[in-house]
Order: sequence, then structure tokens, then C-alpha cells
Amino acid sequence: MTALHLRGVVLPGDDERDLWVVNGRVRTRPVPGARTVVDGGFLLPGLVDAHCHVGIGPRGPVTLEVAAEQAETDRDAGTLLIRDCGSPIDTRPLQERLDLPRIIRSGRHLSRPKRYIPMLGADLDDPSLLPAAVAEQAEYGDGWVKLVGDWIDRDRGDLAPLWPDDVLAEAIATAHAAGARVTAHVFGEDALPGLVGAGIDCIEHGTGLSSDVIAEMARRGTALVPTLINIENFPGIAERATKFPAYAAHMRDLHARAGAMVAEAVEAGVPVYAGTDAGGGIMHGRLVDEVVALHRAGMTTEQALAAGSWGARGWLGFSGLDEGSPADLLAFDADPRLDLDVLRAPTRIMLRGRVVG
Ligand SMILES: [Zn+2]
Repeated sequence: MTALHLRGVVLPGDDERDLWVVNGRVRTRPVPGARTVVDGGFLLPGLVDAHCHVGIGPRGPVTLEVAAEQAETDRDAGTLLIRDCGSPIDTRPLQERLDLPRIIRSGRHLSRPKRYIPMLGADLDDPSLLPAAVAEQAEYGDGWVKLVGDWIDRDRGDLAPLWPDDVLAEAIATAHAAGARVTAHVFGEDALPGLVGAGIDCIEHGTGLSSDVIAEMARRGTALVPTLINIENFPGIAERATKFPAYAAHMRDLHARAGAMVAEAVEAGVPVYAGTDAGGGIMHGRLVDEVVALHRAGMTTEQALAAGSWGARGWLGFSGLDEGSPADLLAFDADPRLDLDVLRAPTRIMLRGRVVG
């Protein structure tokens, strides 16, 4: 394989540098005979969608073929690393395809009957089964386990937690003992203190976060992936929930407070990452919209970029563009720190050391 050469301002940083790529990895010392593929501009570690669903479409589970197309759509928009936050289909064959983004799977969502979107989760008849189910998903996934933390309880007519706090504590400890991290879907307020207190590693959406829970997350280093572009769907969800007026009002209120919640979390020092929730109500390939939304919610452009690139990569165990790093990167003519919309038009997309766009 011919070595490749790139020159540009390597983000994060201000220095124009030369990089070489051999066997899919970044080299920082000259490699003779390398072919130059980028000469000038800005080099960014590949974008990361920290909350994505490869294998879910607007009508539920999709075929592996459609799932592959979803991953291609993400890649072509610059997303080169995906934390899959729960998929009903086995996407491990896609991990063998070198032309698709790297996928870190969380296995299947763990939920309870009638307490999540039909056909997506693995439903447990009794909450006490959670620790054993977590152990199974920790084995099946790639170091993450996804819980449904709350959902509408139709008997109560509002959002409510799915799991008792003591079960959560045992389940999360079980995952940690197996070397896996745990995250949970949470819209409302009530499930959050129990999840964070049980040592969960990340909260998805988190629209019901109070100042107290935000402070506790900052203290513990618990991450937040707010999926702001999906929260934009809350008014529509409320509109359709005609049989559940309290739930509808709750969703509208959570939507109204989401921007301020994210700003407060960022200010408090909670690690916040960019995730689209692509799969059901959100199309794949929209990570840049989420990065822009995080900036609008109060992150600086550099913080929002980190949340969708090098910061998220580090959190997921991947390095930036250093010696020996995977050569997963994007090139741009202009500085995305000055205008995040620059991210929409990479001049080069390199994945595993190969130019794919
Ligand atoms: Zn999701």
C-alpha cells in the first residue's frame, strides 16, 4: 500500500503540520515516496456520533442491507465513529466492512413490556431480571450497555422510571465488573437521581436534569449526550399524545427547558458529547446539525467541535491525530472553529487510512 501524505493545521491546535499515513495509521515522521492527498487547510479527527442507531428505521428494525446504507450515509457526512445506542439487529457483520464507520455497539436496549418503542428493546418481564440481562448484553456488546431509564407509563399517564434504584445499583455494578459502561435513555426527572447515584456512566437526552443532579454528574464525571436535534421532536410527540394530557404537557415543558439544561451542564463541567439519535425519528447523516445545536445551546465552537470529534473520541477510547492513531480524519479548506457549517463540506474523508470521500 502506498503511503499517503497530508499537510494542514491539525485540530485541536494551531500549527500546520505534516502527517503521513501507512497501513491505516498516522505517522508523524516523513515516509519516503508518500503521495500527497491534502495540501493545506485544516485536518480534524473524524466526527463521532455518540448516540446513533444502526439498524433502526422510521418503522422499526431494518435489514442488515439497510443498516449498511445508514452507516454509509453517516460516513459520507463525516461521521467515522459511531456509538450505537441500541440496535434490534446484529450489526457485527458491518464491523467487518472496512469502508464503514467504526461502530461501538451497546447491544440491545433493555426495557420492560409496553415501556418502550415496540420491537426495539429486549423486554424483561420482571425488573429483578435486569442484572442478569445486563451481564448478557455486556458480553454481546462492545463495552456499552443501554437501559431505557424512563418511558410513558400509560396507567399513570406520564413518564415514570422502569427500574427500582436497588436493582439499578446491582445492574450497573454487574456491567462494571464485566468491563462495560452503562448508559440510559431518560426524558423525565424521576429516574435520574437513582441512575446517577448508582454510578451510571452516561445519560442520554437528560431533559429532566435538575441543578442538583447536574452537580452530581459533574462531581462523578458522568457524561451527557443530549441529542438536541431529537428533543426538537418533543412538541410533535406531545401533539400526538391526545389520550395523555399530563404526559403531553410534561414533554412540552421538558422541550422548553432543554437548551438551558445543556448550558447549565456545560457550565458545571459535565462532559457533553454530540449524538443525533438517528434511526427512528431522525435521519442518519445529521451529526453536524447536532454540533451546531450544541453551540447554540452555549458551547463555544471549539467545545462543540470537541464534543463531536476529538473529545468524544477520547471518551470512547480513540486518540486524535497523533503518532500511531487510526487515520480516521476529515480535511477542510476553512477553519471549522470559525464557522461550524464548514463541517458540511469536507474536501477529503479518510477512514482507516483510505480516502473514501
Ligand atoms: Zn436513541
